[in-house]
Amino acid sequence: MTAIQPAPGAVEQTPAGPGVETLERDVVVIGAGISGLVAARRLVQARHSVAVLEARDRVGGRTWSQTIDGSFFEIGGQWISAEQSALKALLAELGKETFSRYREGNSVYVTPDGERHEFVGDFPVAPATLAEIGRLVDELDELAAQMDVDAPWEHPDAAELDRIAFDGWLAAHSDDDQARRIVEHYIAAGMLTKPAHAFSVLQALLMIASAENFENLIDEGLLLDERVVGGMQSVSEQIAAELGAHVVRLNAPVRSLHRSATDDGAPGEVLAVSDTVQVRARYAVVAVPPNLYARIDHVPELPREKQVAHQHVSMGLVIKAQAAYERPFWRDHGLSGTGFASHELVCEVYDNSSPHESRGTIVGFIAGEAADRAWALEEEDRRAAVLDSFAAYFGAEATEPVAFYLSDWGSEQWTRGAYGASYDLGGLSRWGHQQNQPTGPVFFASSDIQGAGYMHVDGGVRIGTDTAARIADGLAGEG
Ligand SMILES: Cc1cc2nc3c(=O)[nH]c(=O)nc-3n(C[C@H](O)[C@H](O)[C@H](O)COP(=O)(O)OP(=O)(O)OC[C@H]3O[C@@H](n4cnc5c(N)ncnc54)[C@H](O)[C@@H]3O)c2cc1C
Repeated sequence: MTAIQPAPGAVEQTPAGPGVETLERDVVVIGAGISGLVAARRLVQARHSVAVLEARDRVGGRTWSQTIDGSFFEIGGQWISAEQSALKALLAELGKETFSRYREGNSVYVTPDGERHEFVGDFPVAPATLAEIGRLVDELDELAAQMDVDAPWEHPDAAELDRIAFDGWLAAHSDDDQARRIVEHYIAAGMLTKPAHAFSVLQALLMIASAENFENLIDEGLLLDERVVGGMQSVSEQIAAELGAHVVRLNAPVRSLHRSATDDGAPGEVLAVSDTVQVRARYAVVAVPPNLYARIDHVPELPREKQVAHQHVSMGLVIKAQAAYERPFWRDHGLSGTGFASHELVCEVYDNSSPHESRGTIVGFIAGEAADRAWALEEEDRRAAVLDSFAAYFGAEATEPVAFYLSDWGSEQWTRGAYGASYDLGGLSRWGHQQNQPTGPVFFASSDIQGAGYMHVDGGVRIGTDTAARIADGLAGEG
């Protein structure tokens, strides 16, 4: 193994100062979200030594639970979709229990002119609009079916589809405003949490292919199927407890990552330097979202194409708004808690009650530019605006919760947005092919650079598992 030397021409770094502990491991994992923790767990199971350095004072990354004013809130990722087999297998392995979302009764649909409809099954829109939605969905499914979800940039029409904004494609393919708005909503507000003019059709197709088909994103019975008893963060907490405090180090933001190569060009070793501990290892897994890669000082710098590519990936923005009530009063009115209104500040709502509580909780989402508008309000006005929006679905009772919380991932320095990261127009076809390629001994793992399960906890489980296998192969090859 060669020693770490600053590469010729690289800015010389001062590795950790006095009092900083030094560890020697096979692999250092940067980030204790689900991707990093699954990678670490698989490597430890394969009998490799690992250290996980986590910037925050907790594990779980974008999964996080808190009890606020007596109510249990999942602030980040929580739902398991029907097709998410990797996450389900992990939950079974860990002995975690799940429960179904409450879904008895009518859903609510509020039209752009404020008309409120209760319905079960299909949206209460004109049959022609319903047929048009079906036609658009079929067309998108057909295009997505031509995509290898692990290599969207190889789609036969990748370059062409990546230069067309999703809203432009919809406008060119349908004259039905309402159908377009509903289809747009599922991908833009519902998933990528960016305006539909800010991402391409190719990026939308990746979202669809990553869930197998559009139906799995539209049917909330499939999409928001189950939750973990104790919250999704408890999955990461259980893995971290299993790995032990000697493996998972909190409050250890990695500031610099040094790497070397052997004389024959093979990966050499790495040195990850945090404020409290530095780890010398054979391999590193950078398990942070791609918008944060540049927060780490890479020594030597990452290759030109990666430095440029990383600037074309950015986080979306969504506020997860939750209000708890003494009881789930909407159920008394025959409502499931599910509702949609693409023009409302809170564009979709669901029953988010937890089985261990008698209180009822509603969760709603404020996505993209609507989130900008909400954050621009004074705190009291914002709260009133969100609760008024809840009232559009459930009536005045919704304005008097006993607990209320707005998830603010945009101001979290170790995330900087929600739910996840996606490319700007043209970025996926131009840069995507290298997102999952290691640079020497440095691998990258995040649900945001994964195919199946992209931008979901399931994707984190998959890429964590795959990355561990690739590194374990490398270590085995070295004997
Ligand atoms: C509001 C919200 C709702 C969501 N809803 C769902 C849902 O219902 N279902 C679903 O499947 N998914 C959902 N998601 C997405 C899901 O939570 C994420 O896809 C997944 O948790 C990402 O896991 P990850 O490990 O790849 O990244 P992260 O969870 O972001 O983990 C990265 C970790 O790296 C740490 N880190 C960053 N920089 C450094 C550094 N320099 N040094 C050390 N550590 C560092 C961070 O603190 C973090 O712990 C949601 C996300 C949000 C925000």
